Amino acid sequence: MPACEYVYKEISFFRTFKQKEIAWISIVAYHLMNWYSQNKYCGKCGSKTIEKPDERAIICPDCNTTVFPKISPAIIVAIVSNNKILLAHNSSFKENWFSLIAGYADIGESLEETVIREVKEEVGLDVKNIRYYKSQPWPFSGSMMIGFFAEADERQTIVPDNKEITSAAWFNRGELPNHPPDISIAGEMIDKFEKKEI
Ligand SMILES: [Zn+2]
Repeated sequence: MPACEYVYKEISFFRTFKQKEIAWISIVAYHLMNWYSQNKYCGKCGSKTIEKPDERAIICPDCNTTVFPKISPAIIVAIVSNNKILLAHNSSFKENWFSLIAGYADIGESLEETVIREVKEEVGLDVKNIRYYKSQPWPFSGSMMIGFFAEADERQTIVPDNKEITSAAWFNRGELPNHPPDISIAGEMIDKFEKKEI
């Protein structure tokens, strides 16, 4: 029998791993592992929890508190204006790397309200004509990315928040800066703009 070797890798290894099915089940397993390990004890009474036998949930045998999978909804929005797209540089990105505006939904907020708030907070713009595109689970951060397209008047002044976003600008087709590849919904949406599909 051939020797089987195991090695530890950073979870980000799966972002570029060529066997996509293996990468996918591995990052989903990573999300599940985080969820189980963060819910070993009941947040309400402190007792040890168990897995609920009939559905994907964790339950407290003492007070019956049930914890469903934690998936954090986050919007991601491609803002366009007159054949230009707004791309932003996040302080956590590599140099010269730009992407779309994104952020977590808050309690009590609709996803459309999250789009309006996040864009205003991060780059100071008002958006309109918000349209749903599609969603993508993103197990690396335990998120559900919910993609939207929106429009903005490019005469507005861009005001980066200088916390998350350090710069942002309008870009023309054919002149886009470095941006995420299309395995992520951000990359896919930027590609759609580039190919004039939006
Ligand atoms: Zn409990």
